[in-house]
Amino acid sequence: MTSTSKPRITIVGYGSQGRAHALNLRDSGFDVTVGLRSGGPTETKARADGFTVKAPADAVKGAEIVAVLTPDMVQPQLYGEVIEPNIAQGACLLFAHGFNVHYGQITPREDLDVVLVAPKGPGALVRREYEIGRGVPSVYAVHQDKSGNAETFALTYCAGIGGARQNAIRTTFKEETETDLFGEQAVLCGGATKLVQAGWETLVEAGYQPEVAYYECLHELKLIVDLFYEGGVTRMHEFISETAQYGALTRGPYVVDDNTRAQMKKVLTEIQDGTFARQWIAEYAAGNANYKSMKQADLEHPIEAVGKKLRANMKWLSTSPQQAQPPAAALEPQTAAA
Ligand code: NAD
Ligand code: MG
Repeated sequence: MTSTSKPRITIVGYGSQGRAHALNLRDSGFDVTVGLRSGGPTETKARADGFTVKAPADAVKGAEIVAVLTPDMVQPQLYGEVIEPNIAQGACLLFAHGFNVHYGQITPREDLDVVLVAPKGPGALVRREYEIGRGVPSVYAVHQDKSGNAETFALTYCAGIGGARQNAIRTTFKEETETDLFGEQAVLCGGATKLVQAGWETLVEAGYQPEVAYYECLHELKLIVDLFYEGGVTRMHEFISETAQYGALTRGPYVVDDNTRAQMKKVLTEIQDGTFARQWIAEYAAGNANYKSMKQADLEHPIEAVGKKLRANMKWLSTSPQQAQPPAAALEPQTAAA
């Protein structure tokens, strides 16, 4: 494949990342085609946004870059049955998460360039930051460089979605996969959720009002995280009281203690040795019964009903994640610390 400044791009999948990438790349002047199953849930949306939508097999045929933006668990079959038989010789295959390549679920054809461009944020924010003239920080990696231009393709795509406007950091498929999984499991999604739920339960079980506990353990977390985002833990210490600082410094280690650190290490080990990947792949293959019931328990946790009632009076909140405002801090001019 010859390297052009504006390669033809096909995006397969039009969900959180797919829609944001497709819209940003089109606005950056790229020729974008969307590949979706006919009658699938997002086809109408892609057409309403003005894209040419084709069946995945047809959509990948003429593309110089094919971005695989379907859920991770459907990618191996999609690659084997649809992408590999149809993707052009020498094209560039692009992922937004290294999972399937790193854990050997996809072994890309030898003639392809294989790269990763992973924005460090949800799709709605990838789109919004682009629209206001910035981008979310991204990492990129090269797994296979057949043409000698694989890094250029990754950086061109990264710039097209707005990610290179911020610091784009070069990584590897292994590092991106393992750190991304660790972050979402131990800190961002798993750790934060369980911390909030346990804190709320502790207060409510001790007889405090559920609504007051909600403000303390969930609502205010955003305000603290905004300070982290703007200026790190340093910024938080500048804004909280001395009493809060002393309490945080002496009692924080009660909660995140040696046992918590050992558990974090266990989370990381299970990512590194493939235990987590094998378990998730087996769960998906078996129909997701455990995943669905655990998720339902999260959705039915009593803090959700309390929050729903309180948020009904927070008129500044929108209901759809696609319309959600970025954090207040994201609207501030970028600083070296951000
Ligand atoms: P998603 O679940 O939001 O979207 C999935 C899309 O794929 C939908 O358009 C769906 O209709 C389509 N799809 C499903 N099965 C298909 C099939 N067999 N053939 C064709 N299309 C199919 O997915 P997402 O969360 O945007 O994740 C996409 C990729 O981006 C994943 O690799 C994920 O790890 C990565 N990623 C996601 C985020 C995020 O914030 N969601 C962040 C960084 C990276
Ligand atoms: Mg992730």
